[in-house]
Parts: sequence; C-alpha cells; structure tokens
Amino acid sequence: MSGPHAGVLAEARSGPASGPRVGVLALQGDVREHAGLLSGLGARVTRVRRPDDLAVIDGLVLPGGESTVIDKLARLYGLRDPIRDAIAAGLPVFGTCAGLILLADRIVGAIEGQQTFGGLDVTVRRNAFGGQVDSFETDLDVPALGAPPVHAAFIRAPLIDQVGPDALALAALPDGRVVAVEQGALIGTSFHPEVTGEARFHRRFLDHVIARS
Ligand code: GLN
Repeated sequence: MSGPHAGVLAEARSGPASGPRVGVLALQGDVREHAGLLSGLGARVTRVRRPDDLAVIDGLVLPGGESTVIDKLARLYGLRDPIRDAIAAGLPVFGTCAGLILLADRIVGAIEGQQTFGGLDVTVRRNAFGGQVDSFETDLDVPALGAPPVHAAFIRAPLIDQVGPDALALAALPDGRVVAVEQGALIGTSFHPEVTGEARFHRRFLDHVIARS
C-alpha cells in the first residue's frame, strides 16, 4: 500500500516506527505482560524464538516462568550460545524471577544439568521462599527508583544469596535479603514488576538500551 496513510496504517499494525527495539524471550512464561508493558512505554517489541530474532533487537527481557524449562528450550532452539555471547558483548538485559535465574552466574537449587546464560555476578537461590502457596506481595523501597515504593509480587521467587563485586544491590527485603540487582546494563529482580503494573524497572532497562544503541 502507498499514499499518505500508508505509514500510519503500518504503524497501527506493528507498533511505533521509532523507539527502542527490544526483544522478549518467548519460549515460556509471562511474555505477554512484558511485551504489553514495553509497548506501552514506546518500545518496538519482538518475541524472540529463533537466533535470527536477535539480529533486530538492542535489548532483551527474560520473563518470569520456569527457568528449567526456558533453559532447556533455549538450548533446543539454538538460542543459548547466541544469547550468552550477546550478553557478554554488552546487550542490555532485564530478567524477572526465572529471568533473573537465567542471568545469574551461579545458582543454588538447580536441577541436574541446569544452565544459565550468565552475566550477573550473583548467586541466586531458586524457590527460596518455598512453593506456590508461599507467594506474596509487598512494598519495597528501591532508592535508585525514588518514591513511591515498588509494589512487588513474589511468585515461587528466587533470592539473591550473594552479590559479587561487579554487581550492585538495588533492593532488599526489610531483613536485608537482596531481591534486585544491577550490573552495567543488566538488571535482575526476584519479583515481577510486569504483573503489578510497575513500569520503572522497564523504563530503566529502556534507558540502558537507548544509551547503548
Ligand atoms: N521458581 C521458578 C524457577 O525456578 C521461578 C518462578 C517465577 O519466575 N515466577 O524458574
């Protein structure tokens, strides 16, 4: 189609024609929540399912879900090594919950053979709060994001047991246990901002994407 409305129609079909190009790893988990939030912030979102999809993005979100399943599928689809290499080369990445586990250099409570993409200099403990029934919501102070506190949903959540010298804690529970970290252009949270309508972590991630692209 051509003519004066062609651009408008193309935009209506595929989202904004400009804005940061980001991917959401779409193998399993809460892909739709992240994609909706990122589109609402003006990003152009690609669902990443094949290695080729990585060529058109400047940042990647690893969703919440089940890290063991996402790990297995990523290896099956030939995505693990390209994602690992892209992270090592500086790709901005935001991981929530299972996504945090996938970003961690070290995990406790992994299943046999479980691997991560790595990048964050942290040790993450899977299912640190117990099972599904031990899921909870709470308000968290996140000094880097300012007021108001973040309303955070923890769903079979991991904890960050140890923060290595290259990473920085962004948020902790009142007892001091760390639940959000940042390292350069990498952000990881134990909880799910995408399910409570909290957009500030995604905006921070997009700031990293814009700064690096
Ligand atoms: N317990 C899950 C895992 O190990 C993470 C849960 C979540 O992402 N909500 O992958």
